Amino acid sequence: MTTNLATPKRALAIAAHADDIEFGCGGTFAKWARDGSEIFHLICTDGSKGSWDPTTDPARLVAMRQAEQRAAARTLGGSAEVVFLGWPDGELEPGLAQRREIARWIRTIAPDVVLGHDPWMHYRLHPDHRAAGFLVTDGVVAARDPLFLSDLGLPPHRPRTALLFEAGTIDHVEDVSATIGVKIAALLQHRSQLRSTMAIPDEETDGGPRLDAFHARVRSEAAGVGAPYGFAAGEGFKLLEL
Ligand SMILES: [Zn+2]
Repeated sequence: MTTNLATPKRALAIAAHADDIEFGCGGTFAKWARDGSEIFHLICTDGSKGSWDPTTDPARLVAMRQAEQRAAARTLGGSAEVVFLGWPDGELEPGLAQRREIARWIRTIAPDVVLGHDPWMHYRLHPDHRAAGFLVTDGVVAARDPLFLSDLGLPPHRPRTALLFEAGTIDHVEDVSATIGVKIAALLQHRSQLRSTMAIPDEETDGGPRLDAFHARVRSEAAGVGAPYGFAAGEGFKLLEL
């Protein structure tokens, strides 16, 4: 078990959808940003199916989710620059073309730490989360070795560490006691997801018992992760040395 990495110079989180990064590592990203890291968000899919309303216009939803993700990134303390790869929501594949694109961004941004979904999490249902997880691990391997993708014209880059969130086996915890409130504020920037993902009905987006319950749920989960290490709030990861 390890806790609290040294603050990275640059960190890149790669996720399937808008809001996954805030759920997975929002507190950690906010802490690192506060301590001087440059934090980068990369979202694989276009988010076009992230609504329970069958009459939603997918193009409008895509634009809305991009704006929400930029606002969330700003809330965490990053720039509003977010890389959107725009692959169709619900159909993400961990193929060679996608791996190449992920490796290209890892080489371009050259992060010390990459973060993403744990692809080996048992009984995970959402195929995009599984695929995005494999794209992170496969993308790192392709990015770090010089004979891989040499036609990209970018120098190889080996991040020091990968932190996998929603992990089946947690062996690393970051203390997010000081930034758990920022994580929740960033999550609430995803207003189009409040009803479907966060169980907050439209009439309670500015206050109400279910908004309060969401705050309490995020805080109590973080308290449970942090408690064994004496942290008021923690985020748990599977750590891979690269
Ligand atoms: Zn997701």
